[in-house]
Order: sequence, then structure tokens, then C-alpha cells
Amino acid sequence: MTDSPVQVPGTLLTLRRAGAYHTMTLVAPGVAERFRPGQFVALAVGGEQSSMLLRRCFFVREVKPDYGGTIEIVFSVRGKGTGWLAALRPRDIIDVAGPLGRPFPLPRDPVTCVLLGVAHASAALFPLAAVLRQRDCRPCFLLGGAGSDDVLGARGARRAGDSVAVATRDGSLGSAGQVEDLLPELIETAGADVVYACGPLDTLRTVTRIAAGYGIPAQVAVEEPMACGTGVCMACALPVVGDDGATHMVRTCVEGPVFRGERVRWDDVGTIPFDALGAPRALRLGERP
Ligand SMILES: Cc1cc2nc3c(=O)[nH]c(=O)nc-3n(C[C@H](O)[C@H](O)[C@H](O)COP(=O)(O)OP(=O)(O)OC[C@H]3O[C@@H](n4cnc5c(N)ncnc54)[C@H](O)[C@@H]3O)c2cc1C
Repeated sequence: MTDSPVQVPGTLLTLRRAGAYHTMTLVAPGVAERFRPGQFVALAVGGEQSSMLLRRCFFVREVKPDYGGTIEIVFSVRGKGTGWLAALRPRDIIDVAGPLGRPFPLPRDPVTCVLLGVAHASAALFPLAAVLRQRDCRPCFLLGGAGSDDVLGARGARRAGDSVAVATRDGSLGSAGQVEDLLPELIETAGADVVYACGPLDTLRTVTRIAAGYGIPAQVAVEEPMACGTGVCMACALPVVGDDGATHMVRTCVEGPVFRGERVRWDDVGTIPFDALGAPRALRLGERP
């Protein structure tokens, strides 16, 4: 069980830009102390008079006990909401809801773990690595992105992990290609027992397939576009096979964002499979709905 999330006025402490990314530290007491790796926060954007009603979601890269509890998020400017966040100044107030979602499950024994992340989603792996280390696990990072600017935290991963390998699609940093291409060799050489992954759906699907081929679990954090972040709107529903063997449409924001990869019906994401519980079924001629 995780603690219930809180909604607090966060105070912007620092906002730094490094390459494509903005790193924001917020004083958010209550959020920081409840946080567990893999969870995220939803920030209100645009100010009180804004027409941007939907919160924007971000993984948490670090929490510290300073000032009663700080959280650090990393984002790139994608549209209006992130543009507004990037223009804020120290001491500005941001409404923060969190920590949201279910965290990564942690191994009981001191095992070897691959932590694979693509672009900004890699942020979720850093607090995970810290907790794994406390449990005497060996975190081995695989980080990827479109180009060198897009790879998040390669230097930090050298401190936080036992090993780091990087791949970029344009070959500007590390190996050329997809980061998941490096996964089979690392699983073999490190003798990995579990893979944790964050990134685009295609990457998570491939990671799940590769891990399954080695008979090890993949715990994946899915970044499905979501509107409310708190389970009310159903915008982020994903077809996932439950313990009962049936497919359920589950809300990524509350039942996720972390799922066991093999439970996600990757080929059916974005649809309601006909055999999902509660799926609308085709009516026979003359049948009433
Ligand atoms: C669980 C989770 C964790 C995330 N963590 C990070 C992070 O650590 N760093 C980071 O840079 N980004 C992260 N994102 C993506 C981030 O939420 C979007 O980049 C942001 O909402 C875009 O807002 P915008 O107004 O700038 O862009 P716009 O494209 O103008 O946004 C319009 C709407 O689309 C939604 N939206 C657009 N793209 C995405 C997307 N990829 N995922 C979800 N919603 C989207 C927004 O919520 C918003 O409601 C995360 C998303 C989720 C769901």
C-alpha cells in the first residue's frame, strides 16, 4: 500500500536548464516524504485564470528532506504547459498533487537489476537506483535517446549505478541504435534478475519481450497521456491482464504507471479489446442494447 497523495502549494526553489532539459526543484512537504520510486506528480499550469485545466504529469528524479521536503523533476518544453513551467522564477508557487500512482515493486533479495530509460522518462530510475543500492542490489543503467541532448542523466548514472551504457539513435553518444538493442548482452553479462524500464510504449514492449525471453520479469513505467492523474476521467485506460487471467481496462494513473510488462496487451493499447471485461459488444440483429 502507498500513502494517499496530497495537494500542496509547492514553492519553486531552483530552475536550471541543461541542454534540452529543465530541472526544477520544488519545496513540496508531504509529497517528498510519501514518495516512492516510480511515482509521479501532477502540476497545475498556467496560473489561476488559465484555460489550461489539465494538470501536467512528471516523474520525480529526486527527493530530499531539505526545507521540509523537496522534489526534483526534469522536463523538456513540449507545449504550452511545459513552456509556462520553464518561464517560472524562484519563489513562484505551483499547485502540486502527488505522489501519484503505484511505485516499482522492489526485490526482496540483493539481486542484479537493469534500469533502462529513454529520454526524460529515465528520471524515474534515479530514485529507484538509490533504493536498490540501500538493499544491496546492483543497478546497471542503460540510457537512450534520439541524440546526445536527449539522454538524461548519463553522468549521474555513473555515480548511482554499477555500470552505465548509452545508445542514441543518431549515434552522437554511445552506441548507435535503440537502447533496448543493448539489453540482451547486459542481461547475459551482468546476470540480471529483473529489468525496470521507462520510456515510449514501443521500447517497453520490446523490453518486455526480451526479458521474457530470458525468463526474468520486466517492471515498466508507462507514460500514457493522462488528463486528471487521479483516476477520475478514465483517459489513460490500458488493457492489462489481471490475476484472474481476464483483460481489464485499468487506469494508468492509479493502477499504474508501473506494470509487470507481460501483463500489458501491447498490441491492443489505444483500443478496448473485444474480450476485455465490460467491453462493448456487437449487437445481433434485433437485439436491444
Ligand atoms: C506518468 C507521466 C510521467 C511523465 N514524466 C515526465 C517527465 O519526467 N518529464 C517530461 O518532460 N515529461 C513527462 N511526462 C510528459 C508530460 O506530462 C508532457 O510532456 C506534458 O504534459 C506536456 O504538456 P504541454 O502543455 O507542454 O504540452 P501539450 O502537448 O500542449 O499538452 C497538451 C495536453 O496533452 C497532454 N500530453 C501531451 N503529451 C503528453 C505525454 N507524452 N504524456 C502525457 N500527456 C501528454 C498534456 O497532459 C496536456 O493535457 C510524463 C507524462 C506522464 C503521463
